[in-house]
Amino acid sequence: MTTPASIELPEPLDIIAVGAHPDDLEIACGGTLAQLVKQGYRVGMVDLTDGEPTPGSSGPEQRLEEARKAAEILGVHERITLTLPNRKLFDSFETRVELAKVFRRYRPSMVLGILEKTPLASPDHWQAMQITDAAVFYSRLCKWDDQFDNLPVHRIRSLTWYPLGFRQSGAEQVGTSQVIADISDCLDQKLEAIKAYESQFSGERLEQVLTTVRAQNQSWGAICGFSAGELFYTSHLLGVNDLYRTVNHAIKGTTDNLELGIRSQNR
Ligand SMILES: [Zn+2]
Repeated sequence: MTTPASIELPEPLDIIAVGAHPDDLEIACGGTLAQLVKQGYRVGMVDLTDGEPTPGSSGPEQRLEEARKAAEILGVHERITLTLPNRKLFDSFETRVELAKVFRRYRPSMVLGILEKTPLASPDHWQAMQITDAAVFYSRLCKWDDQFDNLPVHRIRSLTWYPLGFRQSGAEQVGTSQVIADISDCLDQKLEAIKAYESQFSGERLEQVLTTVRAQNQSWGAICGFSAGELFYTSHLLGVNDLYRTVNHAIKGTTDNLELGIRSQNR
């Protein structure tokens, strides 16, 4: 496949995470994004909208500045905020193409997207999930380059979803695997990134959000013996080459770190 000479592509990203609004990604998977950066991967964040208007913000400029600061705290390599409309975000051909163009330009191997509905929160999240799923597919479609500013096709290898919000139980999804990512070393960094959104969270509300996020991440982490973790769903079942090592390692972590009594139960 050849790229037209006039198109200059940036250095590729390994992972692109997609949210509907600036702050979605920080709350749901900010720790993992920071951890992936520490592990040497090139990480990008995409917000489909600028998230404005909102009650406590002076306008899009403030929100964009907060997003920039949060990305800096997490250490990610790129943050792109698209200009799709907040509050009336809909899965459509045009929105799919907008996001697919980002994928074709930055050529990630892995995409992280929103999982499922977020009851009592913005319906943009559900739409964002559908847009992301479709854009991953659109990214690889050939004989259609004119729809994507002649950007070359790109095949994304894996699509993984994160639950967003505090009302999702993390119940099992058919055909997926649940994974807990260890964010023990990055929980504080994640909380700092959330604090960057002063227009969204301040005073009592900020304390409430930080307490809830911390508790949720500590709870998910405890399942696997980490001091903090984030939950993901993969789009396929995960295979292991060494069942003994993988399973035993998980149990060892749990007993060593948290003394949950598994060792005594196994006697
Ligand atoms: Zn949101």
